[in-house]
Amino acid sequence: MTYDNNNVFAKILRKELSSKIVFENEHVLCFEDISRSAKIHWLVIPKKPYTSFDDFMSKASEEEIANFFKSITQITKENNIDKYGYRLVTNNGASSGQSVFHFHVHILSGQTLGGLHGAISEN
Ligand code: 5GP
Repeated sequence: MTYDNNNVFAKILRKELSSKIVFENEHVLCFEDISRSAKIHWLVIPKKPYTSFDDFMSKASEEEIANFFKSITQITKENNIDKYGYRLVTNNGASSGQSVFHFHVHILSGQTLGGLHGAISEN
C-alpha cells in the first residue's frame, strides 16, 4: 500500500487539522482521539509516513522504533496512568479495523476496560 499524504493524521502532523496534543518529541506525536472509546483515548503516531505497524517495523530505523515505544512509556508515566493500568491497541490492515492508514497505537485508560469481546466472529 502506498502512503496517502492526505490521510487525517498527515493533516494533523502538518497542522492543517487541529488536535489536542498530549505529547510531542522529534519522532512522535500523541493526541486525543476525536471519538473516544474510553475516558482516556489517545493516539501515538510516528512523524514519518508509515501506513501500518508492519510498514513501520520494516522501514523505520532502530532509533525511531526504540523512541516510539519508549515514548509510549514516557506518556503513560507523565500522565500517571502507568500505575492505574492501560491498554495499547494497533490495528494492522483494514480487516483488523484499521481506518486511518498512518501507523498509530491507541492508548486506552482512565476506567475499567472490558475484555476483548467481539475479536472473534464467524464471518
Ligand atoms: P483505527 O480505526 O485506524 O485503528 O483508528 C483510527 C482512529 O482515528 C479512530 O479511533 C478515530 O476515532 C480517530 N480519528 C479519525 N479521524 C480523526 C481526526 O480527525 N482527529 C482525531 N483526533 N482522531 C481521529
